[in-house]
Amino acid sequence: MNGGAHLSQEDLALYTMQSLRGEELEAVRVHLTACPECREELRLIEGDLAALAMSVDQQAVPDGARQRFMSRIGDDAGAASHGTQIAAPVPIQPKPAIKMTWVPWALAAALAIAAAGLGMKVNTLRQQLHKQTVLLARTTEENVHSQRVLNLLRAPSAQRVMLTAAKTKVEPTGQAIYLAERGELLFQGNHLKSLPEDKAYELWVIPANGSAPIPAGVFRPDKSGDASVVMPPLPPGVPAKAFGVTIERAEGSGIPTSPIILSGAPSSGE
Ligand SMILES: [Zn+2]
Repeated sequence: MNGGAHLSQEDLALYTMQSLRGEELEAVRVHLTACPECREELRLIEGDLAALAMSVDQQAVPDGARQRFMSRIGDDAGAASHGTQIAAPVPIQPKPAIKMTWVPWALAAALAIAAAGLGMKVNTLRQQLHKQTVLLARTTEENVHSQRVLNLLRAPSAQRVMLTAAKTKVEPTGQAIYLAERGELLFQGNHLKSLPEDKAYELWVIPANGSAPIPAGVFRPDKSGDASVVMPPLPPGVPAKAFGVTIERAEGSGIPTSPIILSGAPSSGE
């Protein structure tokens, strides 16, 4: 990171989607190893991608980004339909641990769309970051974290639950992805009303066995009413009857103290 360019958001997004190969992959790796800022940005993009991949109202993709991404995926899949494609053979080298064999198409497409909409948000985050200079040095831990996020997104047995408001005009919504056996949870809220300074939203896992709701993260929406909770600390092995969101004091509460404003239950049979 010596005065040179940092990694582009597009490259970081492609890296997140594990769509980089060969020299590009190596260059990104090397840069990430040396550059805490880009590692931090990568961590944010991974969180954002995970959240945005669940978002319903996705934004249009600029043509260039779409083509570049699609051609990557085309290379990836090894499809032989396009004779004109410049799919140079990837040099054979020892496989890095992170490499995956296949990016599921639906997820990849969702991430591609989400990635294109990320520019503004990521820039805002970048500015905040440079101010805070919160530079985490624990690369390994971050990689493990992001790998877990991706694994959760891909897990066929993960429950995908839409949380909807009962009777509001603005219609705030939330979507949860929950893998009970591992206690892993992603939540994305949209159209949430802003709250007074001393208040925050709190997410709850409501166990199927009737025990008390488990706090699953405190969050505040951004200016556009969006918020996400990524991998809150949760005990593994707790099947959920439902998920709920309440308004609590800013630091969160151990038990829900307000009416549930968002709730949703996994559909039975999943
Ligand atoms: Zn950098």
